Amino acid sequence: MAIEDSLEKIRQDLLSRLPATAGVTSIEFEGPEIAIYARNPKALGEQTVIKTLAKQLRKRLVIRSDPIIRKTHEQTETIIREIVPKEAEITGIAFNDTIGEVIIEARKPGLVIGRTGSTLEQIRLQTLWRPTVIRTPPLSSSTILKIRHAIQSSSEERKTILRQIGRRIHRPIHIRNGWIRLTTLGGFREVGRMCQLFQTPESTIMVDCGVNVGTTEHAFPRLDLPELDLSSLDALVITHAHLDHCGFAPFLYKYGFEGPVYCTAPTQNLMTMLQIDYLEVAHREGKVAPYGLKDIRKLIMHTIPLNYGEVTDIAPDVRLTLHNAGHILGSSIVHLHFGDGQYNLAFTGDFKYAKSRLLEPAIDKFPRLETLIMESTYGAPSDIMPSRKNSERVLVDYINRTLKVGGKVLVPVLAVGRAQELLVVIDEHMRRKTLMEAPVFVDGMISEATAIHTAHPEYLARELRDKIFHQGQNPFTAEYFTQVDGHDARTEIIEGGPCIILATSGMLTGGPSVEYFKELAGDARNSIIFVSYQVEGTLGRRIQKGRRQLPLVNSGRHSGVINVDLQIHTVEGFSGHSDRRQLVEYARRIQPKPERVLTCHGEATKCINLSSHLHRDLAQRRRVETRALQNFETIRLV
Ligand SMILES: [Zn+2]
Repeated sequence: MAIEDSLEKIRQDLLSRLPATAGVTSIEFEGPEIAIYARNPKALGEQTVIKTLAKQLRKRLVIRSDPIIRKTHEQTETIIREIVPKEAEITGIAFNDTIGEVIIEARKPGLVIGRTGSTLEQIRLQTLWRPTVIRTPPLSSSTILKIRHAIQSSSEERKTILRQIGRRIHRPIHIRNGWIRLTTLGGFREVGRMCQLFQTPESTIMVDCGVNVGTTEHAFPRLDLPELDLSSLDALVITHAHLDHCGFAPFLYKYGFEGPVYCTAPTQNLMTMLQIDYLEVAHREGKVAPYGLKDIRKLIMHTIPLNYGEVTDIAPDVRLTLHNAGHILGSSIVHLHFGDGQYNLAFTGDFKYAKSRLLEPAIDKFPRLETLIMESTYGAPSDIMPSRKNSERVLVDYINRTLKVGGKVLVPVLAVGRAQELLVVIDEHMRRKTLMEAPVFVDGMISEATAIHTAHPEYLARELRDKIFHQGQNPFTAEYFTQVDGHDARTEIIEGGPCIILATSGMLTGGPSVEYFKELAGDARNSIIFVSYQVEGTLGRRIQKGRRQLPLVNSGRHSGVINVDLQIHTVEGFSGHSDRRQLVEYARRIQPKPERVLTCHGEATKCINLSSHLHRDLAQRRRVETRALQNFETIRLV
């Protein structure tokens, strides 16, 4: 059957089930959603018709009003301001004409939504626009504004893209339950450039497309393997925003990929920020970046954000669901459902199987599961982290000791994840007076990343959310945190008194953390505290190993030697990764029990060790195949 015939069949099927009074004018395939345009959406207004239908057809259906019947922008704005109580504090109203959506930004979105959505329903019925409510973040993020602007200013282009994607998803296929293959393109038996390909006789899905920031030799996934043909790639799924999982994604668009990217909304925002920064860092260091800003823009235009738990068709025979991974804001465990329930697979991405101050622990229950692919960053038997409480105590102790002797504390952090976790920890301990009060300087992209966190409070840990909304204590906006702007401010901090400095990059591969390190290294009163994983080959790893003399490299040239006299500490427990015990515990507890466990995202010895340990450990209960795949292997799952 040709694509057009197949789409027409779905249209006709839908039409025959919808009430004629709805005045349906067209049915469009917009990305994974099927949009029903109607002159009288009120006839479908109770939503029950649509909900039942969506369940029967197992499709995501949305109702949109036909443009002719919608109220004008001015009328709509007036109606919204009349219906919504003043206390909601609306800060902006924007329109997306192509899909008939009105975006309402408010400080208290709950009041715009109303009890069980009653206010929204009123807006929808009276204006005939589809309202979406966004929380006005307490800190404004330039990345979010950029993304919103890109999409709103090119809404026709966006519509065309979504319709193309929709046509592909609903195309007819011949084999629904055939073989399934996995090809490892990067990130197996190594940390960095995570990338894998899942293929059926009908579809190809890529999960993650990262770079390795610690090396130039094997920095990118191998996209030249015979298994990959960009023109037949159905979708890219991104687990989370760290560059080793998404840093290479824009490259696909540079080379002709026109399919969608699926990830959570916070991942989209954080990923865009980090990709733009990746280009800026490359530019500053005189390196040639593998892609440009226009490729990042293309990626934004092709991104379809999903919420946790939303089951979505991404190919005719593949359904995707994202679940909380507990690693960083918006990080996901990817669950893929192939064929008619034929096979199910979960890829953990980076995950934390424990509660942190920032996030809830990773989800360990899935509707069905045959294969689990799990990260192994801390997969060695000795990779045991202290408890969270203990780590906080040790950290506070190191900081206090440094501040007491008049020193400065440098904490190199990834802009996303550890930085915000530490802000919450520092805020908590300063409030409790267990941590000496001192200015805390935040340098690099941390503030922008923090602003993005404040825009997605629903993704944060319950306790933290409660603190922000019910106790009025937002640790992200606490007064002892100062954002550092520019080189002069840095000099002032270095010449000033005792303080705490949180700076990127986390592994001292560039950025302000390196500048601070150079200036602080010579004074034994100062300290550097590592709180995140240091990849082999980075300056961070060399300092951590205790090298007392480090060659200075400037634009690829040696320019002297730094003498390292400052105190060097590592506090393990803050990692956003599971430690060895948590990895093993996860494989034991996950439900349902998978028949196969594959390890990845770890040094070779760790992937292998974890895999063989799990084989013995899980064998006590049941037979499980475990493997530490290498890069560039293809295996058959079914
Ligand atoms: Zn990560």
